[in-house]
Amino acid sequence: MKDVKSLNIQKNISFLKYTTFKIGGPAKFFCVVENVDEIKEALEFAEKNKLDIFIFGGGSNILVSDKGFDGLVIKINNQKLEIKNNEINVEGGFPFSKLVSESVKNNLTGLEWAAGIPGTVGGAICNNAGAHGKSIQDIIEKVEIIEIVPLDKGGWGVRKLTNQECSFSYRNSIFKSEKKYIILSAILKCGIYPLGFQEDESRKIISGYLETRKQKQSLEYPSAGSVFKNPEIEGEILDKILIKYPELKEIIKDNIVPVGWFVEELGLKGKKIGGAMISEKHGNFIVNTGSAKAEDVVILISLIKQKVRNRFGVQLQEEIEYVGF
Ligand SMILES: Cc1cc2nc3c(=O)[nH]c(=O)nc-3n(C[C@H](O)[C@H](O)[C@H](O)COP(=O)(O)OP(=O)(O)OC[C@H]3O[C@@H](n4cnc5c(N)ncnc54)[C@H](O)[C@@H]3O)c2cc1C
Repeated sequence: MKDVKSLNIQKNISFLKYTTFKIGGPAKFFCVVENVDEIKEALEFAEKNKLDIFIFGGGSNILVSDKGFDGLVIKINNQKLEIKNNEINVEGGFPFSKLVSESVKNNLTGLEWAAGIPGTVGGAICNNAGAHGKSIQDIIEKVEIIEIVPLDKGGWGVRKLTNQECSFSYRNSIFKSEKKYIILSAILKCGIYPLGFQEDESRKIISGYLETRKQKQSLEYPSAGSVFKNPEIEGEILDKILIKYPELKEIIKDNIVPVGWFVEELGLKGKKIGGAMISEKHGNFIVNTGSAKAEDVVILISLIKQKVRNRFGVQLQEEIEYVGF
């Protein structure tokens, strides 16, 4: 095994304590990086030893296989934050929920919707995280990245992408679809409240959002949040569904149907395989009731997909990402 200078690269580190699902076998190699030099050392180690790489944020949007990941996991933990006027310059490893409170403390608005979303800034940008009709793409000015391309092909260069170059769409981005960038930092542009008005108003909105989460999501169990993207349904398929379920007209917005509605109609809430269960509160959450294996979750996911396809003619797509499968 070829070594690098100073980075502490650990072996056989279990994902159990690092993922919000509390599921997953070991990472063959695992390191925590706090700056560009350390990231480059980690990339060098992977390149020298011909290892696959997985870029890890807060582990709140992934399902890791029971056999783990046979490569190098790089946990991004750079955490600087700088606020100037209404511009936030924040590093990729900064906790996303802390970013919300920091923005409020600094008289800024535009991130209230993100209260209660776990993980890091890098993970949120990769997934174009969103809630309450808003998402991170709305406030991104620039994203600073390092490109994971072999050194002899000009790799590891640092550059900035504009919002447009990030190709954001619903729970997607160039970072999720191409998997060859590490997000180092981002510049976000927020709004400024008139002085004296902001903190109270923002805090009220945030505590309302947090209360809704508590009521609607099974936060008492480990999970990875919503498993599927809410599908957009049009044309004949939608017409057929609406004839049979006219009440859906009240729920559907811009042709997007919440996955929870399908799961409820199919009577799947509370369905258990091994230690994994479709949440009784939120049909798009699968929770770990204590000892779930990734395999249990995979079986539940395919059960939901199969039943939704058979009954409604709709193909669901995962929002969570599979690691090590
Ligand atoms: C209880 C609960 C509620 C949730 N609610 C929401 C919600 O309302 N809205 C929502 O959108 N999501 C929600 N999520 C899902 C998840 O929290 C978000 O998608 C979060 O932004 C993922 O960030 P992370 O750091 O945990 O990413 P990880 O799970 O660690 O990784 C996810 C993806 O991001 C990539 N990634 C992470 N960091 C970087 C980086 N620095 N550079 C490049 N790629 C990177 C990873 O490679 C991976 O592809 C919820 C999850 C839970 C458990």
